[in-house]
Amino acid sequence: MKGGGLVEALKMRALPEGSNDYLALLEFLKLYRDAVQLVVNKLWSLNEIPSIKTLHKMSYSELKRYGFRAHHVKQVYTYAKTIVRASKRNGGKKPVLRRLTARVDRYDYRLDLENRTLILRIHDGRVVILKLLTSIERIEKFRGWSNYEIAIKVIENEVYVAVYFRRIVKSRKTKTITTIDVNFDNVTLAVFTSSGKLLKLKRYKTPLRKILTHRIWIERIQKRYSKSWGFVKGVREVIEKHGDRMKSIALDYAHKIGDRVAEIANEHNSTIVLENLNKLRDRANSNSLFNKKLSLWFYRKIQFTINYEALERRLEVSYINPMKTSSTCPRCESRLKDNGDRVLKCSKCDFTGDRDVVACINLFYRYSRCGVPRVALNAPKGDANLRPMQGKRDEAMKSTYIRS
Ligand SMILES: [Zn+2]
Repeated sequence: MKGGGLVEALKMRALPEGSNDYLALLEFLKLYRDAVQLVVNKLWSLNEIPSIKTLHKMSYSELKRYGFRAHHVKQVYTYAKTIVRASKRNGGKKPVLRRLTARVDRYDYRLDLENRTLILRIHDGRVVILKLLTSIERIEKFRGWSNYEIAIKVIENEVYVAVYFRRIVKSRKTKTITTIDVNFDNVTLAVFTSSGKLLKLKRYKTPLRKILTHRIWIERIQKRYSKSWGFVKGVREVIEKHGDRMKSIALDYAHKIGDRVAEIANEHNSTIVLENLNKLRDRANSNSLFNKKLSLWFYRKIQFTINYEALERRLEVSYINPMKTSSTCPRCESRLKDNGDRVLKCSKCDFTGDRDVVACINLFYRYSRCGVPRVALNAPKGDANLRPMQGKRDEAMKSTYIRS
């Protein structure tokens, strides 16, 4: 299917219908927390995280006494697995759950949006009724969406509910192709016609260097307080502040760029082509492991928002293997040489071009070859040297020559 799913949460406060409802909910959340903790403890002692099925075999005899429904138990497993995985990945200690929160899937609740009522099935075959405190206007948006899960929590005697909605988006027919290259310094966008004519070229600076300066601050502080920094409250707070700043710069930027890219693609009625980050090449300028990790995290955030904004506009998004897209000559496929100042040169055919633009052109060719059947059909069979887009190749290049 062409298209994808959009997921969004509607978060609101909820009011239990009576005090009995509140007490029953509280009891349920406490049991749920105990059950998750029990499974977390089990998982923590294992070297490998087992499947839900195995986990069920291991835990069910103990979980039975909670009086949960089958889907409650399934959610407990999933939740516990997520918690343990996250903590192990960060090298943390065994998690101890304190908060009263549960995830409940659609088999265990009824949502009546018209009357803003949530009926929750809890343990021992009991039911809790909650009034949702939100406006009709906020609900309006989710008409026609389906909901599949809720998260419910109690903080300081207040009940909060998040309903997760999903909408399947069928993408529309597009006329052009927008390719996007993301690297440490720039996000570059190029819009092509299906025959390879360049319609628009845009480059945005990334904030990665700015983000890195915060990282350098953190490292300096850590070095200065070498052994004790983790324990001194003031120092820890300063480090956290830099960390938060890094995050907010990145998320702000990702949001803006996602919106802008999708808007341009929308104007040009364009399919968006992104790099498949799982097949990411080694990038220039990411010489340290930290830089690499940071950039990858950042690229993913950018792609996520582009993808989201594109789906909202019913635009198709395609992922292409980016291997060597910034080192292959778009004209003759030879290896390009770095000519300094981000300019690449082909020693075989003398093609010269800006590194980011070259990457965008190559992404376009790669997409055209495997994404547009019409182009592949036109390609003569049996001749490996003939490239499908050959005739139109220079058309795309003319206007993208930064230097020649
Ligand atoms: Zn060449």
